[in-house]
Amino acid sequence: MGTLHVRPILDMRRDGAAKMRAIAEEAAALVRRYRGAYSGEHGDGLCRGEWIRWQFGPKIDDAFRAIKQRLDPGNLFNPGKIVDAPKMDDARLFRFPPTYRTIPLTPVLDWSAWDVQNDPVTEATTAPGTGGDSTGGLAKAVEMCNNNGHCRKFDAGTMCPSYRVTRDEQHLTRGRANTLRLALSGQLEGEALDGEAVKAALELCVSCKGCKRDCPTGVDMARMKIEATAAYKRRHGHTLRDRLIAHLPRYARTASALPWLFNLRDRIPALARISERMLGFAAARSLPRWRRDTVWREAPRYGLVDSAQALAAPKAVVLWVDTFNGHFETENARDAVRVLQAAGYAVHVPGLQGDPLCCGRTCTATGMPDRARVGGGAGGRTRAFRRTRRRSSAWSRRACCRCATRRW
Ligand code: SF4
Repeated sequence: MGTLHVRPILDMRRDGAAKMRAIAEEAAALVRRYRGAYSGEHGDGLCRGEWIRWQFGPKIDDAFRAIKQRLDPGNLFNPGKIVDAPKMDDARLFRFPPTYRTIPLTPVLDWSAWDVQNDPVTEATTAPGTGGDSTGGLAKAVEMCNNNGHCRKFDAGTMCPSYRVTRDEQHLTRGRANTLRLALSGQLEGEALDGEAVKAALELCVSCKGCKRDCPTGVDMARMKIEATAAYKRRHGHTLRDRLIAHLPRYARTASALPWLFNLRDRIPALARISERMLGFAAARSLPRWRRDTVWREAPRYGLVDSAQALAAPKAVVLWVDTFNGHFETENARDAVRVLQAAGYAVHVPGLQGDPLCCGRTCTATGMPDRARVGGGAGGRTRAFRRTRRRSSAWSRRACCRCATRRW
């Protein structure tokens, strides 16, 4: 007695269905010959429903039908499973039928690593960008979700916080991937990547990257959200809220000079309500508190070194301080400096003068990835990188590190 666990690699968009039936018929004949059971450990479902009748015999199959009819006369529960199941190669039920096509689309991010052809025998892949994906690899990245449902688990590491709160399939990595797949293949009632359905599915994704790490196939929904948000904003335009978030690093130094003024929103309930109505910032939530003692003002007291001294020092590190730790949670950055200095490092913090050296994360979050590349301090950031490239780097925020090094 045993279970055969096989997963033949078949391309259902080409000749996969015919091959699947041939394999199933051959396996069924073997099972019959050795008087085995054809049912799978995960149930029979659509894949094996067709084979129930020969396996159990017409008498039991008719009994299944009679029980189902008695308990579910309206055929509401799982229609077409076990009783009156369709053919296993009924293409209308395929996620990727032979008619499956993706729409033409030029993505803003580079998805070419997914746009490859895999040889199922040798497992060799062709060069990036040669897979023939009309969306530059985005659709193939989305199709990495094989619906295994790992993201529905509550003990699977980080993935997926928005589902753990809502318990709604729509707000789950898998649900989001399915919505994106339908959008990219023109099956979303005329809506594409820039439509309301995609926006609604992605809205509660907190871009934690939990799925990239915890999903067995590494679906990176946070990256897909950047792409979809950019498409939506390209069509519908940016709101004042988007601009306030995106340009935060630019006005943060000015705002921190007048914390009493910029903190009024959280002190006066009427202002919080107005900000909710006009900008969409929930009145019930407080915003990060502005303060004068930012890293930029306090830095002269930290005992930091400049870039030339960092290059000359025997043991030096470049500490990239992000907008939030630099302005709102200054203690984190200050303590990071202390820890590094206690470990014997000369610490250099770039961007203490001049324009802020922002990683661009606020821009990617609000649908402005192009701005993250060319604006928001990107030029200064690149120069600072070059100046200090021979030194180790530490980042006060992981998301900023990923964004600045363009590992979205
Ligand atoms: S990045 Fe989004 S989809 Fe992925 S685990 Fe986090 S919240 Fe869920």
